[in-house]
Amino acid sequence: MSHSPRSILESVYAYKAFKGQQEAIIGHIIEGKDAFVLMPTGGGKSLCYQIPSIIRSGVGIVISPLIALMQDQVQALDQLGIRAGVLNSSLSAEEAKKVKRNLFAGNLDLLYVAPERLLMDGFLDMLASIKLSLFAIDEAHCVSQWGHDFRPEYMQLNVLRHRFPGVPRIALTATADVPTQREIVNRLELSEAKIFVASFNRPNINYRVVLKDNPRQQLLRFIRSECAGESGIVYCLSRKKVEETAEWLRAQGFNALVYHAGLESELRKRNQDKFLQGEGVVMVATIAFGMGIDKPNVRFVAHLDIPRSVEAYYQETGRAGRDGLPAIAWMAYGLSDVVVMRQLISSSEASDERKQVENRKLNALVGYAETTLCRRRVLLNYFEEQHPVNCSNCDNCLNPPETWDGTIASQQALSCIYRTGQRFGAAHVVDVLRGVENERVKKFRHDKLSTFGIGKGLSKAAWLGVLRQLVAAGYLAVDIDGYGGFYLTEQSKEILKAEKPIFFRKDLDASTKKAARSMRAHSAVAKGGGTLDARTKSLFESLREKRLALAKKKRLPPYIIFNDATLWEMATKRPGTLRDMQAISGVGAKKLESYGKEFLVVILQTG
Ligand code: ADP
Ligand code: ZN
Repeated sequence: MSHSPRSILESVYAYKAFKGQQEAIIGHIIEGKDAFVLMPTGGGKSLCYQIPSIIRSGVGIVISPLIALMQDQVQALDQLGIRAGVLNSSLSAEEAKKVKRNLFAGNLDLLYVAPERLLMDGFLDMLASIKLSLFAIDEAHCVSQWGHDFRPEYMQLNVLRHRFPGVPRIALTATADVPTQREIVNRLELSEAKIFVASFNRPNINYRVVLKDNPRQQLLRFIRSECAGESGIVYCLSRKKVEETAEWLRAQGFNALVYHAGLESELRKRNQDKFLQGEGVVMVATIAFGMGIDKPNVRFVAHLDIPRSVEAYYQETGRAGRDGLPAIAWMAYGLSDVVVMRQLISSSEASDERKQVENRKLNALVGYAETTLCRRRVLLNYFEEQHPVNCSNCDNCLNPPETWDGTIASQQALSCIYRTGQRFGAAHVVDVLRGVENERVKKFRHDKLSTFGIGKGLSKAAWLGVLRQLVAAGYLAVDIDGYGGFYLTEQSKEILKAEKPIFFRKDLDASTKKAARSMRAHSAVAKGGGTLDARTKSLFESLREKRLALAKKKRLPPYIIFNDATLWEMATKRPGTLRDMQAISGVGAKKLESYGKEFLVVILQTG
């Protein structure tokens, strides 16, 4: 075939340029060599094996862990006019036979298979009898025993190297941490593969952490003011909280669904489909909801409880904004989160060693929540990537938090905790510090202590902020197995002996209007990019309605017809003819033919 990768990019996908390292990766595979691709979600991994499969002779075999994901991809390819098939347990014998016939007739460029199927008796023999262009191993981190996406069949995929030595293999993953990467190379025997590492930065995601203070209302305000009518995911720690939160959101008028491992699989699937195929659906879920959520226009991911690690946080928030348009990662955080997480770790069955690792991971996440630095820099730094400048797209960059020297306050707090016997929680400690003469204080004769009333100068909220930040930094601990009292740690000495000054962030009080306002001003800019007039927005909405109607008719997820970026471009440029329409990114020959007219009519009719 004489097509070049670029001509396929332009004519079939209707994209103007390759993203990141796509072109280099594609060239490498076309030459018949192996590759290991590390690219964040939304980076454009699929093209890296799809284009070589089209160009090289033979069929490209794509191994993918999730049936829903495969079908999605095949539908999307079908809309582009690319010949792709899928073989998995969801097909009837008749359907499977048809796919096989196409396969043997050389009518397919790509075949998606589940790993179980690939390793089934006779399947590899069958593949040996046809011409193969490549093997793509998608979600390659499923080979890792330590991750929660582990799939035992992935461990056997090294067989491909031995059975098909001449067929190039490309493994792909969005998992950032180094140990998992090493495991993938070892298990899949990819030591000779060229490794392509993209930056893990997700510039279109705006990161924010708010201090918990009636989190439901905070969530509501956030969604209403910035993401009204958009699709998003709300993560909660427990199934119960998932159910309650969704019910509450529904009462507030949202189209909210639930997803957690306790639902029967039928309902789980139904809710997932509604999320994928609908518009403006809010999915309230536990971490069970995630892998394979390829919906590109998830506009926000909210955490009502903190995740257990920075890896988990990054993976979960990474589901926002795959389409590259502005998206928001929002998290509510408070001292209670830290305590609950520590309790979970402490009460688990894991070995002490494992618990230590988990506590360290949690500490890193708490550090992220408390940081006054650019959040993007902190995140990327965690993954051993440097981000040279402040990002201007996180709360700390947009509203630099004020800090104050909390050395003396910390000493007062720690000595008050020490003198009250290291067994009381925040409310009582703050009462003693502030000199509140209530019954409890009197009962324990804490009004007689030297630390009684030494902290009158600070508000209750400020003291709570001090205690929380001391815990977050490890200068203070909470007795999670008992009644939740504070006690001093080894590190507390550094503060008591004034070996080291400590700076705190000035907590934004929920009513601080300035911050809220400037954040909103920012996100108004974010929507669709640039300053959008009402006319463009309303055209976008009309185009979106058209897309949803077509999607329902064709039983396709809307984004498979056109993604949001394409609709925004149509709304902004307002093509007046089919020819102009073709110049829009994402409108290839096949889609122009299938949908061009209908969208053109909407544009012409919307004044
Ligand atoms: P990943 O699998 O890495 O998460 P995808 O392959 O699903 O990413 O691509 C993410 C989004 O970016 C998709 O909507 C895809 O169509 C789009 N995309 C991929 N490559 C390009 C490109 N070169 N130009 C414009 N959009 C692209
Ligand atoms: Zn920043």
